[in-house]
Amino acid sequence: MTSAPLIDPFARPITYLRVSVTDRCDFRCVYCMSENMTFLPKRELLTLEELDRMCTAFIGLGVEKLRITGGEPLVRRGIMTFFESMGRHLESGALKELTLTTNGSQLRRFAADLAACGVQRVNISLDTLDDRKFSDITRWGRLAQVLDGIDAAQDAGLRVKINTVALKGFNEDELFSLVEWCEGRGMDLTFIEVMPMGDLGNEDRLDQYWPLSDLRGRLAERFTLQDLAESSGGPARYVRLIETGQKIGFITPLTHNFCESCNRVRMTCTGELYMCLGQEDRADLRAPLRTNPEDDGPLLDAIREAIGRKPKGHDFDYSRQRVDGQVSRHMSHTGG
Ligand code: SAM
Ligand code: SF4
Repeated sequence: MTSAPLIDPFARPITYLRVSVTDRCDFRCVYCMSENMTFLPKRELLTLEELDRMCTAFIGLGVEKLRITGGEPLVRRGIMTFFESMGRHLESGALKELTLTTNGSQLRRFAADLAACGVQRVNISLDTLDDRKFSDITRWGRLAQVLDGIDAAQDAGLRVKINTVALKGFNEDELFSLVEWCEGRGMDLTFIEVMPMGDLGNEDRLDQYWPLSDLRGRLAERFTLQDLAESSGGPARYVRLIETGQKIGFITPLTHNFCESCNRVRMTCTGELYMCLGQEDRADLRAPLRTNPEDDGPLLDAIREAIGRKPKGHDFDYSRQRVDGQVSRHMSHTGG
C-alpha cells in the first residue's frame, strides 16, 4: 500500500511539498526574524543526503511539485548538490516542477546552475525598490545585490515572480512603481499579507498589517482587474490587469479562506512535517528516517499517519484587532 497517493481526511490529494533546507539567512527581515536569531546546531538539520531521501520518499507517494525554501535556501552549503540530485526526478517525469523561493542575494552565483538542474521558475522576495527602505526592512540586505541577482536569473532563462509583503506605511506608496517595474521586466507580481509568525519582540504586527482588499481597491482605481480562475491550490488568487496584460497575485491567508483546496504540506530543515501553516500540529519524520537508514518503510508509514492528521483549516484572525491563532514559530523555520 505504500505507493498509494497521499489523500488527506478531507479528500485533498497532497501533491506539493515545500521544504525548508536551512533556518539561516543572510538577511534579517523585520517581519520574519529578530535581529539576534539563535540558529539550530548543525546536527539538528537534515543532511543533504537525508533531504534527498526524504524528498524522494514524498515523490514516491505522489508529490509532483517541490519548492525549496528556508531561511535562505541558497546560503545552505552544498545546496546545489541537492538540486542536482533532485534533477533525476524531473528527468524521470515523477516530479513535474522543482522550484525555490529566495531573497535573490545569491542568484548571481547560482542562477545558471539552477537552470541546468531543471529549475524553470523562481520566486524572489522584494518589498521595495528604494535603497534605504530595503536596508531598513531587511536590516542586512543590499538592494543592488538583489537586483543584480534578478538580472542573473533572467539572463539564465529563469522565469521570475516577485513576492512583495504588503506593509502598511512602508510600501503603500510604491504600489504602482512596483507594478510598473515588474511589467517592464516581464515578471509576475504577488502581494502577501503579513502573517502573525514568531515572536519578533518590538515589531507590532497590527501596525504592519495592510489588508490586500485595500491594496486591490487602489489597483482598481487605475487598472481594470479581471479575476482569473486559476489556482495553485494555495492561498494565492490572481487577477489580470487588462491595460497591461500583467498577472498580479494576492496571498491573503487572513482575509480569505483558501483551505478547501489546500494540496500542500511543509517540512522544516529538521524534518518536522507541518500539515498546516497556521497550526502547531506536526510530525517528526527525522526519527523514522535516521533510525532506519536502510529501510524507508517506517518513514513512509510516518508520512501517511501525518497526512491522516491534516486539519481542515487554520486559525489566523486579525478581525478583532488582536492576533488570534498566532503561531509561535518563525516563517524562516517552516519556510514561507
Ligand atoms: N529567504 C527566502 C525569501 O525571503 O524569499 C525564502 C524564505 S521566506 C521565509 C519566504 C517568504 O515568506 C518571503 O516571501 C517572505 O517575504 C515571506 N514572509 C516571511 N515572514 C512573513 C510574515 N510574517 N508574513 C508574511 N510573509 C512572510
Ligand atoms: Fe531571510 Fe527570507 Fe526571512 Fe527575509 S524573509 S529574513 S530573506 S528568510
